Amino acid sequence: MSFNENVYKSIVEVSPFPVYVCSGDEMIITVANNATLKAWGRDKSVIGQPFSEALPELKDQPFRGLLSHVYETGNTYFSSNDRADLMVDGRIQTFYFKFTYQPLRDSNNIITSVLCFATDVTELERSRQAVEASQNTLYNIIKQAPVAICILDANDLTVQVVNDSYLELVRKTRSELENQPVWEAVPEAAELYAPILNNVIKTGETYYAKEHEVILIRQGAEELVFIDFVYEPISDINGKINTVMVIGMEITEKVIARRLIEEAEERARLAIDAAEIGSFDLDMATGNMVTSIRFNQIFGISSTPSRNTILELIHPDDIALRDAAYEFARNTGKLFYEARFIWKDGSIHWVRVQGKLYLGTDTHPTRILGTVLDITEFKHLQQQKDDFISVASHELKTPLTSVKASMQLLERLIRQDPTSDKVSLFIDKANSSLTKMHHLVESLLNVSKIAADQLVLNKSNFIASEMIKDCCEHIRLTGKYNLVLSGDMELVFYADKNRIDQVLVNFINNAVKYAPESDTINIHISKEGDNSKLSVQDFGRGIPAEKLPHLFERYYRVDSSGVQYSGLGLGLYISADIIERHGGKIGVYSEKGIGSTFWFTLPSV
Ligand code: ADP
Repeated sequence: MSFNENVYKSIVEVSPFPVYVCSGDEMIITVANNATLKAWGRDKSVIGQPFSEALPELKDQPFRGLLSHVYETGNTYFSSNDRADLMVDGRIQTFYFKFTYQPLRDSNNIITSVLCFATDVTELERSRQAVEASQNTLYNIIKQAPVAICILDANDLTVQVVNDSYLELVRKTRSELENQPVWEAVPEAAELYAPILNNVIKTGETYYAKEHEVILIRQGAEELVFIDFVYEPISDINGKINTVMVIGMEITEKVIARRLIEEAEERARLAIDAAEIGSFDLDMATGNMVTSIRFNQIFGISSTPSRNTILELIHPDDIALRDAAYEFARNTGKLFYEARFIWKDGSIHWVRVQGKLYLGTDTHPTRILGTVLDITEFKHLQQQKDDFISVASHELKTPLTSVKASMQLLERLIRQDPTSDKVSLFIDKANSSLTKMHHLVESLLNVSKIAADQLVLNKSNFIASEMIKDCCEHIRLTGKYNLVLSGDMELVFYADKNRIDQVLVNFINNAVKYAPESDTINIHISKEGDNSKLSVQDFGRGIPAEKLPHLFERYYRVDSSGVQYSGLGLGLYISADIIERHGGKIGVYSEKGIGSTFWFTLPSV
């Protein structure tokens, strides 16, 4: 052995990397350094043995075959991390080696042996496998996640990993997305989200999107969807952002469901607002209340009240009624009462309270949910109607009593002295009472016709001055009044003559009734632009200015005590309806102590 050979031998011997040589057809191990023996788990005794005898556990593994192949072909074999299961420390263990098999030739260039240089890469391979495994686990988690996940390469924005949920969300196939630049795959979202994604990569700040409305192309059609999603930047060990994870969840159904609820609530609220209903939620144990703005308005208070605040406002006369309603509610669960409440300013307001009582486990009421409605106006109308009925019955009773009295007297008279001149007197009396009744009943019928919208007009042309003369005859006959007619005597009205006559009679009768001190009554007819106008002026006491706006309302009477003058408060209401049906206007000027002028206009033909 030459010096050089010795040097080489010791270099091989001390090499921390396995080096060995197998020679001849049988691949006799001729050289095997310590690192080799250690890796094999053998001692020096293997040197001189054929490879397959020294390492019988490798029988079904490729090494022996590879060695022969190199020996026979002369082609060097380069392995990448190859697995070898070796018997070390009495058990088969798995190792990984990176190695080369090179042919060794003699001076005649004949291959005599195969030289192996190896590196034990077991550790490396194990950690690589561990990484791979954890990546696989991660991938599986991503794959099975019920949320949409897409992992993008931060450099070129290509889709690296995408799960089924994501594909489902954007309604694309895997091949349309995987390895594709994301904005080419989902171009419809690019305009809005590309700048955001770029910013996430630039700043490293996670981006959270809540309930974003996105238009996605699904099966070729645009679809508006709502999604929650996150752009999560992921950095490599050097802190450079190399990946962005997109996690998204479609919440369209949730949003739609919520919006439906919101809409329903809004509708209910609008209905409640439109009906001007106030609502409340009362905790019976604490007396605390939650109330709507309208509730507070109804009770004339500015902030959320406690139960006592409301109880203090109730009219003393209505406390018993309220208590009875509560007693009833305890049995039925339903609260209902109408009571007066006195506001801080002293005004009285009628309120209808309706609610549902909730009982606790011990059957004590714990909570009331309810509504309140201001029924002051309604109560006033009811009152007006009641008053009207009593006035109307009274008005009818007077002429009726008079007719009855006349009839009794007539009966007696006819039996005793049928020729008496008093007979015609009583007949006249009865007749005039009957006419009065007839008028009253006529007025009542008119009102119900107006209410049912059944008052029909029979229009014709007639000369206004002639109609006036005819209808005023009865007043003129009394000789008490000076009726002065002035204006355009030729003026023609196109209207329902009987109805207009009715209005005029009402004006004149009122002048007689309410201005008895006025001996002159002026009637004036004129043309005013496109209209014809008729006015009736008296010189009576006039009407207080604050009453004027109400004169034409149903049942309205200036002197509502009804003692001084009889009347139902219907004449002007019916007149106004007749004139309005003709497309005209009705009104009054009046000054206290000077007199009143009632007028109406009719459109000319
Ligand atoms: P009524 O049947 O009570 O007369 P009207 O509708 O005709 O009903 O009149 C309404 C009220 O208007 C009357 O109650 C009266 O107080 C007032 N009024 C009507 N005409 C006159 C008038 N010429 N002068 C003063 N008051 C009048």
